Amino acid sequence: MSVEKLARGNIQRLVTYPTFNKVVKPEDVWLNFNEYPESVPFELTRQEMNRYPDPQPRALVESYARYAGVKPENVIVTRGGDEGIELVIRAFCEPREDAIIICPPTYGMYEVSADTLGVECKKVATSKENGWQLNVDAIEQALDRVKVIFICSPNNPTGQLIDPQSIRQVLEMARDRAVVVVDEAYIEFCPDKSVVSWLADYPHMAIIRTLSKAFALAGLRCGFVLGNAELIEVLTKTLPPYAVPSPVEDIAVQALDEVNVAQMRARVKALKENRAYLLEALTDCPNVEAVFGTEANFVLVQFKAAQQLFDDLKKRSIFIRNQSTQVTLDGCLRISVGTRQECERVIAAIKALA
Ligand SMILES: *Cc1c(COP(=O)(O)O)cnc(C)c1O
Repeated sequence: MSVEKLARGNIQRLVTYPTFNKVVKPEDVWLNFNEYPESVPFELTRQEMNRYPDPQPRALVESYARYAGVKPENVIVTRGGDEGIELVIRAFCEPREDAIIICPPTYGMYEVSADTLGVECKKVATSKENGWQLNVDAIEQALDRVKVIFICSPNNPTGQLIDPQSIRQVLEMARDRAVVVVDEAYIEFCPDKSVVSWLADYPHMAIIRTLSKAFALAGLRCGFVLGNAELIEVLTKTLPPYAVPSPVEDIAVQALDEVNVAQMRARVKALKENRAYLLEALTDCPNVEAVFGTEANFVLVQFKAAQQLFDDLKKRSIFIRNQSTQVTLDGCLRISVGTRQECERVIAAIKALA
């Protein structure tokens, strides 16, 4: 009798999320996780760890609330944005009864979390011709049994913002029926496009945030869900106590102070200059079919012979993300914006392999 056969059916059917052997060698170029390309150093200010942390670390909740322009009651701290995603599904969906809606091509973790929890994932695909904007009518048609709807804006991996008008339409149709999650993992790259100011109008809206991208702290595992107090309370009940380790709180609070937020904004500005370089240089590569507009720290590119190029780049220790198995993304690879030097290296390699 194998132990695997004892696992729940939906767990047996899962495929292990791809992990990478992340022994980063100096010659490697890692442009496949949308991380910030350089380390921003922090030091622990508190060394004592014999006591349990606060169930929800007060100082961090207050720091993030100040940064996001909301009240502390509108914030819950999670272990990365990914835990926030899972938390919302876990809190609102009955396994094997309720469903979520996702709008592919989009971020993979919504479906992974639903699968893990035994919750059906309905897919309302967007179309490339329509710039991957939401198919609002089809979402309305699919609402039966749906308790959570995921909208990613800017969308990963396509890079574009979702039309705010269509987000409002989905919020209206979901009133008293479903929670609408707006995933703003990349909002620091276009901060004036956040829908955070709409929270007062929509008790059923949840916003996912993270320190993993613009804040350069993917290794810290710190994310947030923003919502109205009632929704945050429901999520708080669902989160295990002491979920946020004390060292995470310590460093996250520092990252959110005035000086470090200003530095984060300066990094975003510099990164956008690298992005402009990358976009421009890509249009000059003969093996590029299309470069899509982006509001985030990555670029989606359609290539001729994409798989071959992807494999050849890997042989040259340049790692980007193959998106060509996602609907409508045939031949598409996603490149994270790295340092200027990394951007130059990937461009030189793409040209050499054309
Ligand atoms: C990176 C990312 C997240 C969250 O990542 P964490 O590292 O778990 O905070 C959430 N949503 C999208 C779309 C992302 O790309």
